Amino acid sequence: MLLTDEVLLNYQRCPRRPFLDIYQDTTLQDPEQEFLLKLRRESQVHIAATLAGQNYKQLDSSARDWQARAKETELLMQQGVECIYRGMLLIFGSQQAELPTPTPTNELTLVSTPTLLVKQPGASNFGNWMYEPVNIKLGQRAKPEYRIVAAFQAQILAAVQGVWSQTSRLILRQRNSYAVNLDNWVPRMQAVLEECVQMHFSRAEPEVFISRQRCSLCHWHSYCYEIAQSQQHLSLIPGVTPTRYKHLQELGLTTVESLAHASLDSLGDTIGFETAFRLRQQAQSVLENRAILKSASFNYPTIPTADVEFYFDIEAEPERDLNYLLGILVVNRPTKTEQFYPFMAENPEEEKRIWQDFFELVLLYPDAPIFHFSDYELETIKRLAKQYEIPPIQLDSVLSRLVDLHKRVTTSVTLPVENYSLKSLAKWLGFKWRDSEGSGAQSVCWYDQWLKTGDRALLEAISRYNEDDCRATYCLKDWLVGFLPDAQ
Ligand code: SF4
Repeated sequence: MLLTDEVLLNYQRCPRRPFLDIYQDTTLQDPEQEFLLKLRRESQVHIAATLAGQNYKQLDSSARDWQARAKETELLMQQGVECIYRGMLLIFGSQQAELPTPTPTNELTLVSTPTLLVKQPGASNFGNWMYEPVNIKLGQRAKPEYRIVAAFQAQILAAVQGVWSQTSRLILRQRNSYAVNLDNWVPRMQAVLEECVQMHFSRAEPEVFISRQRCSLCHWHSYCYEIAQSQQHLSLIPGVTPTRYKHLQELGLTTVESLAHASLDSLGDTIGFETAFRLRQQAQSVLENRAILKSASFNYPTIPTADVEFYFDIEAEPERDLNYLLGILVVNRPTKTEQFYPFMAENPEEEKRIWQDFFELVLLYPDAPIFHFSDYELETIKRLAKQYEIPPIQLDSVLSRLVDLHKRVTTSVTLPVENYSLKSLAKWLGFKWRDSEGSGAQSVCWYDQWLKTGDRALLEAISRYNEDDCRATYCLKDWLVGFLPDAQ
């Protein structure tokens, strides 16, 4: 069995994923997502930019011949080469005393490819020098899963060079260097490694658990989602986290129906009364396929209705710190007209211009409420106003008109959906996006391609997707006003 950096990284995100990668038919995987390809390209560009002007040695052996690469790496280390790019470290289980037990160690091979192996002072098997592993990552933070992999690399390197490096380093997006404390992270890594090895040797398939954040970019998403749906799995109930799921199982609550009829007393004792009430109501809503008021006695916030209303949505690329489309749907109720304004930056330098155009339109109707669906619009208006110097009095008047419908929905009503994204809510209301493949991530890919190719059809696709988001927000607002008692 081959255990690599990537297997260990994926295992921490979802144990099921490396299991399926090894034991399931790969033709059942989803096609590679454009967004992931884009991230991979950006990672390569980031590594190349970080290494620009540095001296390092690359391996000559074929990328497929792991044993040859490992031998070549060891040879370069013996020669005392200062910096080795993508060296391969390989050890067999029987070589390593600190491997997880009990495992048939002779069947286990550990392989690691740190971005760099950098020569350091100290004594090792090779002479009066030793090496330290360095990983260059596109992420902003030294996430725990990066640190675990860094500790894994340090352990394999220790077996190869006969001594532990002092640290294992991460170089992050801003080129900042982060030293992983091996005293803290090696024991944690060994615990994760042990679980991962046990899973593989026992061939016990981890249960499916759909989590929007981690599953949406996984190539097993369609496969796992179908299984979860066929089982009516509780992970499809919003609010059921892996920890809460364990508690529910301990209480024998394994189906939507059993959760919908659960006793609040026993559930509340385990996960807290408020959470218990929320989860049970969510299960009832799904079971009966109906919207339920959170509480009959709650004082619901008003939702303004005006002659002219704005529905606002932003397309942004956080990686570039760029907002490239500020879209507004203007709904004029007396004239029964709807007009969509896509303020589009055709290149990153136009962000200021579209911001000014957007602000001018917003000031034209000083009484129009501005509906949006998330915190992002509020935070972006504040940030752009500061960056492009809008007078505080004008900014305050615009901020006071913002109405976050996501907040209004989640604090007032429980709906039979799998999550509270705009897509899920509007789909439940019967709204349809014109482009079925449209998404925030796809919009970023379209914009990236537009910058490279100049194909205007891509800008049109982004604009159409953004307009549909604004229209979905409009649809949600009208439904909510009709549903909530005294909403206006
Ligand atoms: S889709 Fe989700 S549950 Fe399935 S393997 Fe991927 S991350 Fe794990």
